[in-house]
Amino acid sequence: MVKYTLDAEAEASLLKATILLEKLKNLIGNERKFDKKKFVKFLIKYSRSKSTCKNIQDSYIIIFICLIVQDHNENKNEAKKMISRCQMILSKILDLHAGGKGLTSECLIFKITQFVLNETISVITYNLSSSNPSQKIGLCTQLLKFLSKINFELLLKAMQKIMSDEIQESVFSLLINKSAPFLPSCSNNMITLVLDLDETLGHFSGNIFHPRPGVFEFISKMNSHYELVLFTSAVEIYANYAMNIIDPENHIKFRLCRQHIKLNNNKIVKDLEILGRDMSKVLIVDNDPRNFRLQSENGIFIKTWTGESDDKELYRLMDYLLNLSKAKGESVQQLMSKCYFK
Ligand SMILES: [Mg+2]
Repeated sequence: MVKYTLDAEAEASLLKATILLEKLKNLIGNERKFDKKKFVKFLIKYSRSKSTCKNIQDSYIIIFICLIVQDHNENKNEAKKMISRCQMILSKILDLHAGGKGLTSECLIFKITQFVLNETISVITYNLSSSNPSQKIGLCTQLLKFLSKINFELLLKAMQKIMSDEIQESVFSLLINKSAPFLPSCSNNMITLVLDLDETLGHFSGNIFHPRPGVFEFISKMNSHYELVLFTSAVEIYANYAMNIIDPENHIKFRLCRQHIKLNNNKIVKDLEILGRDMSKVLIVDNDPRNFRLQSENGIFIKTWTGESDDKELYRLMDYLLNLSKAKGESVQQLMSKCYFK
């Protein structure tokens, strides 16, 4: 049996969490009053004050997705049953967290969570195959695929948007803010690496998007060392199409597209200030240096790629960026002034 001990700080957090939990219990105690939107808001607060356990968090997310999906269940009796099951699991998970008893009974939670998910899958499948599928269910399905790959709080926020009927083109639009700063605050100490798409990571010709040599390895390696952001002047629908090809694992969670590009003297520019990150920890890679002219000290120029099969630039850049990510305590501007990528 694993025992978890708490230090003073954790205990204080737990106390706060316990108060929150009481409120949550009141919320879910009465099925008619159950307000999912409010519940997620509480949960976001709650998630900030508790220690994290990835798998329990996954259970939260799955249950919430099931709740959203059950809203669309045409069999209202079935939906009602499932909603009360979801409430039961949520209160059990919260008990586990707030009770500080350790997570020894987590196995049971995972089993029931899986059961609810299995029961919900038929509603998802039925809906997605219908001629008029619900966008909410489509988005929830995408979110399910993101489980374990993404920050818990970020997922909760995305779900909150779905619950508030803020329907977007794709799950990626749900992960960023509607106005600047576009990147939601995340607790990480990584440098943010902003990547251009066309002629940097790939090239579109003959009606198809071609991946640049080394792009798969580049994205997956960089993902362990940097917070990755795509920033393209292309429209979102095209960016999503191209990213499905070069980043099928969805390592790059944030996508900024044409609507995020600014005009400066009538010329487009990628203004890094809109990201909402510390500028001493932001890098941009682009095949057109004019795109990063507002923050040229943060920019890395990479040669334009239009299909040459012997191109090695992404491999060279990968080595350079791996070294850069190891340096500590200096701004990216200082680091790059010592050693340029050329
Ligand atoms: Mg480009």
